[in-house]
Amino acid sequence: MKKYQMYIGGKWEDPASGEWFETLNPYTAEPWALIPRGNAEDAARAVQAAHRAMHVGPWPKLNATQRGALMRKLGDLIAANAERLAEIEVKDNGKLISEMRGQLNYIPQWYYYFGGLADKIQGSVIPIDKPNMFTYTKHEPMGVVVGIIPWNSPLMLVAWKLAPALAAGNTLVLKPSEFTSASLLEMMSLVEEAGFPPGVINVVTGLGNEVGPALVEHPQVAKVAFTGSDATGQKIYEGAARGLKRVSLELGGKSPNIVFDDANLDNAVNGAIAGIFAAVGQACIAGSRMLVQESVHDAFVEKLLKAASTIKMGDPMRDDTQVGPVANLPQFDKVLAYMEIARKDGAHLALGGDRARRPECGKGLFVEPTVFTGVRNNMRIAQEEVFGPILSVIPFRDEEDAIEIGNDILFGLAAGVWTQNMQRAHVMADRLKAGMVWVNTYRMVSYMAPFGGYKRSGLGRENGIEAINEYMQPKTVWMSSGDEPYPFVLR
Ligand code: NAD
Repeated sequence: MKKYQMYIGGKWEDPASGEWFETLNPYTAEPWALIPRGNAEDAARAVQAAHRAMHVGPWPKLNATQRGALMRKLGDLIAANAERLAEIEVKDNGKLISEMRGQLNYIPQWYYYFGGLADKIQGSVIPIDKPNMFTYTKHEPMGVVVGIIPWNSPLMLVAWKLAPALAAGNTLVLKPSEFTSASLLEMMSLVEEAGFPPGVINVVTGLGNEVGPALVEHPQVAKVAFTGSDATGQKIYEGAARGLKRVSLELGGKSPNIVFDDANLDNAVNGAIAGIFAAVGQACIAGSRMLVQESVHDAFVEKLLKAASTIKMGDPMRDDTQVGPVANLPQFDKVLAYMEIARKDGAHLALGGDRARRPECGKGLFVEPTVFTGVRNNMRIAQEEVFGPILSVIPFRDEEDAIEIGNDILFGLAAGVWTQNMQRAHVMADRLKAGMVWVNTYRMVSYMAPFGGYKRSGLGRENGIEAINEYMQPKTVWMSSGDEPYPFVLR
């Protein structure tokens, strides 16, 4: 089994605890690598390394163009190592190789885009209302940024934080999920090869509750950028508040995917399937609440069940596999538990409903693509994030009803709308309380387009030009340009 080390201050380090834990391949259900069990001591060491790199050494002396060049080099190295990195995420997480090839082809764009943005951030001169005063703003990095990453798409979600944070001139300590630490550790050899000075990017691995609070509450940390569940996000927010630190939070979702009777139903069915069964439903933007207008409900459900029952499961390394295993054991148990909850609450099981026992699934952590119909929006299956391949179909009467049900949820990450009536599409886009609304499409994401949630789905935005503001602070400089004496008493 491969035994990993952490990456701290430009060196490969053993954990202070002297302990490692196993990481599982969810397809074989066998452990395949050993991950260092970091603790508060390692967290402190990494923050100190990042703090040093922020203030001494080459990093603070680089200009923004030079930072951008380093980032582009990192993007090139990720592209050159795409296949190797893709295979590690397949092994550690059960993601499909086809999805990972797509992701790894796309991830370099984050480093190119934000690398290009680094030297285009400008302050401004304020035409101030005082005589003989030259007043301008500039943007400075925050300092040490902690990036905490979930298990569902580690390399993609790290790019969303790392790229804007580096472009703004910060240094970072990254903490991957204990279930999927390998790909980020592998990426650190590319960080080294790209020529980032030691300490600019550090990785501490370990269990969330053993390493996370030590990072979040460290006095030398200026900002925490977190992606994960709303429950953990709340703890991080509270921990960061004690030190009055900046935070950005990308949390969970329970997104409505809404089909009107004027929609192209075949497209809507494909959008429903991609929305909930891609990545085994382990996506924050999963369209887990399928709102279907009563007049097309039965026709839509019939098409949906027919299509969903053809889904091919099996070895995630095969190009033709469409749904792989659930990523880890606790998540597998959680998904199965929610099937019971939905049944008990009176939802009608229309497809799946159990672990997958197909021969091609072997001993892997597979769950059948599952559809419940007759779901009411107040059932737990409609209100709580499962993060698995369970779709709840909820009928609605008209536009007003769809908006009411769509917004009747604590989350507000994304929403889908399927209609050929563009007026209706605009009304829905305006009135749905969600950070992203997709019309006649689903799951669209780009480095150029802001991403983030309303309500319990988060704080702040990733991606797009604005994302860099999450990692900078403006400074206003007032400079007297006159030579008259400074008055003894100000009026
Ligand atoms: P999680 O909240 O359990 O863990 C996320 C990370 O936080 C892990 O690295 C974990 O080790 C760490 N952590 C755990 N306890 C901590 C603590 N007390 N202090 C600091 N860090 C701690 O989430 P998960 O199960 O890894 O990921 C699934 C969740 O992530 C889902 O809710 C999903 O919706 C969400 N998610 C959101 C987005 C988004 O952009 N909005 C994207 C992907 C995933």
